[in-house]
Amino acid sequence: MELDRRDFLKLTGALTYTIAASGCATSAPTAAPAAAKAAGGKVEVHWLGQASTKLTSTTGKVIVIDPFLTNNPKTPQQYKNLDALGKVDMILVTHGHGDHTGDVRMLAERTGATVLGPAGLIATLVDLGWVKPDKAVRFGKGGRVNPAGPEITITQVRAEHSSEVTVTDAATKKSTTYPGGEPCGFIVEFENGFKLYHMGDTGIFGDMRLIGDYYKPDLVMIPIGGHFVMDPRDAAFVTKTMLKPKFAIPFHYGTIPVLKGTPQEYQQHLGQTSTQVFPISPGDKLTF
Ligand SMILES: [Zn+2]
Repeated sequence: MELDRRDFLKLTGALTYTIAASGCATSAPTAAPAAAKAAGGKVEVHWLGQASTKLTSTTGKVIVIDPFLTNNPKTPQQYKNLDALGKVDMILVTHGHGDHTGDVRMLAERTGATVLGPAGLIATLVDLGWVKPDKAVRFGKGGRVNPAGPEITITQVRAEHSSEVTVTDAATKKSTTYPGGEPCGFIVEFENGFKLYHMGDTGIFGDMRLIGDYYKPDLVMIPIGGHFVMDPRDAAFVTKTMLKPKFAIPFHYGTIPVLKGTPQEYQQHLGQTSTQVFPISPGDKLTF
């Protein structure tokens, strides 16, 4: 088993390098979804701007994390129509802010997906009527859940941030803020053992070292914008000295003016490193 896994990683390392070198970041490989559904296929990571990410597992299970598409200035126009996402099995939500929950309600309604997240956040989303109680999975940091069957494990981990759900009445423009539990990140382990760590919104914290040592993520999706989250210097330090993943995708930058960090700055601060960085654009897909 361990041998298979090492071979797999060696293989994907070479493959993704080829993809990056040939400029995959600017062209969305259209054949990828079909390939991902094939038995023994690959994991597809489709970044849609800010923290919004669609994952397709090797057996075709679809997970959307932090859907914020219809009002996301960086989401490509075609994905502002939620039907373009196709079927969705699970929606994971890291915390209650609008740039992570914006389309949870609509996407859950359209797809019938199960919605998972921090217990306190999910309680509020159920109370607000955004998520049906029978489609809601409340769990806590350190918890492992398998809502799509035993082959995909989702672990909730710490994030250093805040979590509130603010709802603005369309008619009166008055806003009301509800408790959103505690913010989190997610580690998704796929059928083939590949582990993706979606960090959510977070500042730097010491237990990132524990997460790196213990969960050993292959790929991290890491916030770099600053102001509400880590900036490129923090993110580079964390990548290099604490998480040490094989691959990194910087995200949560450039969506609003205060999120100033850039992938170029992140790579400059990283310097020489064994982590391969994919400075992709919203709408781009990668397979691993
Ligand atoms: Zn955010």
